[in-house]
Order: sequence, then structure tokens, then C-alpha cells
Amino acid sequence: MKLTIIGTGYVGLVTGTCFAEVGHQVVCVDRDEAKVKLLQAGGMPIYEPGLDELVKKNVAAGRLTFTASTKEGVEKSDVIFIAVPTPPQEDGSVDLSFIEGVARDIAAAMTSYKIIVDKSTVPVKTGDKVSETIKRYCKAKVEFDVASNPEFLREGFAVDDLMHPDRIVVGVKTQRPVQAMKEIYAPFNAPIIITDINSAELIKHAANSFLALKISYINAISVICEATGANVQEVANGMGMDARIGRRFLDASLGFGGSCFPKDLSAFIKISEQLGYDFGLLKEVQRINAEQMTRFFKKIVETLWVLKDKRIGVLGLAFKQNTDDIRLSPAIELCQRLQKEGAVLRVHDPKAMEKAKAVLKNVTYVEDMNEVAEGCDAMVIATEWPQFKNLDLERVRKTLTHPILFDGRNLFDVREMEELGFIYKSIGR
Ligand code: NAD
Repeated sequence: MKLTIIGTGYVGLVTGTCFAEVGHQVVCVDRDEAKVKLLQAGGMPIYEPGLDELVKKNVAAGRLTFTASTKEGVEKSDVIFIAVPTPPQEDGSVDLSFIEGVARDIAAAMTSYKIIVDKSTVPVKTGDKVSETIKRYCKAKVEFDVASNPEFLREGFAVDDLMHPDRIVVGVKTQRPVQAMKEIYAPFNAPIIITDINSAELIKHAANSFLALKISYINAISVICEATGANVQEVANGMGMDARIGRRFLDASLGFGGSCFPKDLSAFIKISEQLGYDFGLLKEVQRINAEQMTRFFKKIVETLWVLKDKRIGVLGLAFKQNTDDIRLSPAIELCQRLQKEGAVLRVHDPKAMEKAKAVLKNVTYVEDMNEVAEGCDAMVIATEWPQFKNLDLERVRKTLTHPILFDGRNLFDVREMEELGFIYKSIGR
């Protein structure tokens, strides 16, 4: 099928590429001309495992193209996906100006029947607004349908998640777009759930808030573990083997971040408030998450006492493993807090250093993870990159002026670290 994706970011680029991979003809639109030029020249604006090769393959096959013109994108396809940002505003509500802008651009370019599918994460009832906007700004008298098709990919695993989704959610108002949506997704062999638009929009916010809640739950348990000498990983394993609970999202840490959970949580709290419901449970999820960072920071201060002029090595800058995304990264927040107290930082991340350079200044960026500790008073692990587990611990211990390691991601075994001679402080153990 001929498909257009408007917004070629983490979601749009991966979605467009995977659609092309299963045989659809895809145009990816972005208003960022530099990004479009880079993609047209074979460059990659983001790091996502496996994406580079897949983009090249589908461009070469003539199934994937890039343009900065929404008009061209709308003209070329019958189904238009919207994957633009929906950032938070100061009060936690969602800035829908990108969605509105795209709806207007689509309306202006429409000359025949189109299905407009929202993939961005949006407040419930946004579909109605998109419909109204298109009706209002469409010059010609053209029929169209709006659908909601929330995206559940995880950065760092996005290609795999797109190619092998647990389920596809499609919200519609009428039956007319259903067949096309089923055809688009048929090659992915996943269950397709057809709902009304409001339900589809709600599924996304409800799912993300639940996952954030699960993380805050285990982080709260980690506090109890620390107070009692229990081990949060053992508690999580014991809980997670219960099929009703599951082990995923039960890893205690210095807290979650990224461009989705924090914003989707505050959006959902705000939406609920506007609908007359005080979603106190989710406010508590936010509170626990913020407190988790503060508790971790306190651990560092309690151990090192005065941070001014202390040299600290930090491993990890991305908000989680396998990505170069630093948006609302707890690792960056931690670095900034340490800097504010006067600490001098040596930092490393396998993929996110280039992006970090724009926001994290006056630190030493170190290419080799095993060299970060050199001459430092302590080291911190802030992101759960799997390669950090292969750190040369003997070398790290010897090159630190004091063998102190703060692990915000529980990557190592407590007893083993102590046997190696580390003063090792982790979360909930
Ligand atoms: P992003 O910032 O990586 O990409 C958005 C792209 O849209 C940018 O390249 C931007 O230049 C472009 N854009 C903005 N306005 C435009 C316009 N008017 N016309 C054309 N292009 C325009 O954002 P993202 O992370 O891909 O997120 C997009 C949406 O998907 C958000 O609503 C987000 O909440 C949701 N989402 C994100 C993830 C994720 O892991 N990143 C997962 C699921 C859902």
C-alpha cells in the first residue's frame, strides 16, 4: 500500500522503515530539512539497533523515500500517519500544536479520500479535534476518515517491537478505514484490536502509566528493602515469577525518565483532572520517581560528604540502554546535580555522548568505559547498558583513588563487589 508518515523521528522513521520492509511504498515527511537531506544522503539522525541497515535496504529497493513537503506526502498516499511530537507544557498538559499544524497541512493538501491515522501519543478525544480541524481547513469537499493507532515501541528495541508487536490497536469512528488498516498490518502477524477512537487513545496513556506505576512500585519496595536488609532483586524475582505479575518493569533504579513516561504520566493526570477525576495514584508514581533520584543523590553525598572538587566518573548518559536519546534522562539530571555541588565529572556513554554534549558542558567525555574511573574519587553507574557488566573491575578499582562505586542500576552482585574490594552502594540491596 502507499503510506505517508508525517514526522520522521524515533517513531516515524522506524514505523516508515518497517512498513517499507514488509512491502509497502512509504514516504517519510519531516519539516526539518536538514534531517531530510541527511536521510536522503544515506545518513542516520538517530541511533536505533538495526535501523541503519533496514533504511538503506528499503531506500535501495525504492520502497522508502524522504521529503520535507507534506503536500507531496499527502498527494502520494491514501493513508497518512501522524508521528509528530506531543511535548508537555509547563502545567503537565500536552502541547497539541504540532498535531493541529499537521492536521491543517494535510487538509490543505487533500484532493481525494484519505485515511488520517494518529500515531502520536495524544489525550483522549484528540481524534475528534483532528476531524474538526481537517473539516474546517480542507478547501476541497473531500471525504476522509480519522483513526487512532497508538505506538508501543520501546527505544533501543524499536525495530524488533515494530516488526513483532504484541498487538496493534486501531481506533475508528466508522468501518470504512478498517479494511485498509488491517491490510497495512497483515504482514506483521499480530492481533489487531479494533476499538472506538477514544478507547484507542486511552489505551496508550493507560498502558504507559501502568508501566511507570510498576517501576515506582518496585522502587518503593527498594526503600523497604534498604530499611530491612532485604534484597530488592530477590523480592522482584519472587514476585515476577507469578504469571499474574511478570518480572518485567520490576528493576529498582534511580528512577525512570525519557521522552515518554514522565510526559505521558503528567498528561494523563492532567486529562483526568480535566475530566473531574483526581488520579492521586499516578501523582504518587511521580513522587516516588522523583524521590528515588533524591535518595540516590543523598547516598553519594553521605558517602563523599563534600562534593566540591571531587572527581566523579559517570557511566551512562542515555535515559536507558541501547539508545542515544537523552531526553529527560535521569543520568543527565544526576550529572547536573553533581555539577551544581561542584563535582568534576568524567563521563562515558556508548552512543549518547554526541547528543549529551549539547546539554552537558564542562565535563570530560571519555571514549573508553574502562578509563572513566582514572583519578576519580568515586564512580557512578547511571544507565543500564549491558556492556557495563563487562567493565574491567580490577582496573577500575585500581585507578579510582578510592574504590567507591554507586550503582543506580544494580548491575553487579553486592557480595562479589565487596569481595573485589569495592565500597559498593546500589539500590534496595
Ligand atoms: P521525535 O521528536 O523523535 O520526532 C518527531 C519528528 O516530527 C521530528 O523529526 C520533527 O522535526 C517532526 N515534525 C514536527 N512537526 C512537524 C510537522 N509539522 N511536519 C512534519 N514533521 C514535523 O518524536 P518521537 O519520539 O518520534 O515521538 C513522536 C510521537 O510518538 C510522540 O507523541 C510520542 O509521545 C510518541 N511515542 C514515542 C515513542 C518513543 O519511544 N519515542 C514511543 C511511542 C510513542
